[in-house]
Amino acid sequence: MNKHELQPKSGRVPGDNAPQPVRTLRDWLDHLAARDRLAVVKPNVGLKFELSAYAKRLDGQRATVFPKPDGHPIPVVSGLVSNRGWIAEAMGVEPAELLPRFQEAALNPVPWQEVKQAPAQEIVHRAPLDLAKILPLPTHNEHDGGPYIAAGLMIVRNPKTGKQNVSIHRCQLTGPNRLGVLVLPRHTFVFQRMAEEAGAPLDAAIVIGIDPLTLLASQAIVPIDHDELEIAGALQHRPLPVVKCVASDIRVPAEAEIVVEGRFLPNVREPEGPFGEFPQYYGERAPREVMEIVAVTHRKDAIFHTIVGGGLEHQLLGAIPKEATLLTHLRRNFPNVLDVHLSPGGVMRFHLFVKIRKTQEGQGKNVILGAFAGSFDLKHVIVVDEDVDIHNPTEVEWAVATRFQADRDLVIVPDSQGSKLDPSNRDGVGAKMGIDATKPFKAPEMVFKRIHVPGEEMIDVAEVLKRSGSDWRAALKS
Ligand code: MN
Repeated sequence: MNKHELQPKSGRVPGDNAPQPVRTLRDWLDHLAARDRLAVVKPNVGLKFELSAYAKRLDGQRATVFPKPDGHPIPVVSGLVSNRGWIAEAMGVEPAELLPRFQEAALNPVPWQEVKQAPAQEIVHRAPLDLAKILPLPTHNEHDGGPYIAAGLMIVRNPKTGKQNVSIHRCQLTGPNRLGVLVLPRHTFVFQRMAEEAGAPLDAAIVIGIDPLTLLASQAIVPIDHDELEIAGALQHRPLPVVKCVASDIRVPAEAEIVVEGRFLPNVREPEGPFGEFPQYYGERAPREVMEIVAVTHRKDAIFHTIVGGGLEHQLLGAIPKEATLLTHLRRNFPNVLDVHLSPGGVMRFHLFVKIRKTQEGQGKNVILGAFAGSFDLKHVIVVDEDVDIHNPTEVEWAVATRFQADRDLVIVPDSQGSKLDPSNRDGVGAKMGIDATKPFKAPEMVFKRIHVPGEEMIDVAEVLKRSGSDWRAALKS
């Protein structure tokens, strides 16, 4: 890894007055507090519903800190990354550089560095364990199956290669030292099945209370046997310090707050769920993989992080890496794709807005088909021209209102694979819709020319308001 590869594309050199990426949860809490984005809620808030009620109402405005929840000595934090701009700040880049920076980090991972002493292991608990006593485990939504670890990075190793995988899974407390874990058919699933076929348990560690960039890196869409902690290192501009677990060979971030160590039991499935998920609906209760906990380590003054299902923090953590991946995917075939956005109204998974610089008639429809090939979760894709702000849903709606004709610009693909968490389709099979809201390539210039007042963009509204009074009678007399 040469130094050049670690530098942001903007040409700003780290250390050269450029903002540095944030490296620990505690630094991030300080950063938020200094900008009036952190609310410390009263002590002793209830872990069942009350904590998530506060966190949800403040979602997107303030991160929340809950001292002594239900009297528990370990505080809970939530809503750490519930705003795109905050994530850009954590990376130390401008908002427009958010996706390019993530793309660059995913392509240029930085191997981690092992340390012997770690804050994450200051306190060690071993069997017999009662997780609900050691950790403040909240229950979020009305019909959730029970208390959950919702913001834990699950780290497992490939039983053959030893390569690690990092991902977030919902983990329901089902016994004093037992968790029911939803393992969708991705990388953790593959490693768990490899161990299971050999009749063996699979060691696993759940890391709770970590910096925002490692959280984001855990959601990167990279091939199997790519350790997402190396992407965290690239985002942090340093080899991530890791420590060996006390009960397995798994390496976990040394600066984490809490690590729950255990193993997936082979050929054991027990009911887990329901759980409030990102589309604002419940994920169903069903038999799931079971993790038995063998140790818990944490800092002396540990902090527990929870993500309230369906909130902005939940949606954004998945959306940014998905946007970066979709942008890379689309640009392979369409170099004129300028930007993509998974909109909040589309639960940051189902609706994609794409901005293109149109160079050929018909291109909008090709981009629609390309996007659907990039992620089965996508349900509706809207393609617009470069004069439309895709981060403003009103702008996108304006483009649909004035540049789209349903008989000419609509693409429908029936009976295709979608998200199983979309309750309107048939168990994951449904329709795709693409809307080409680009103007015709060779339209007469004035027909689609957006109206514009010369100089409007030069007016500093805050400055005007500061200098203006409201006493119009006096103003007209003088
Ligand atoms: Mn992976």
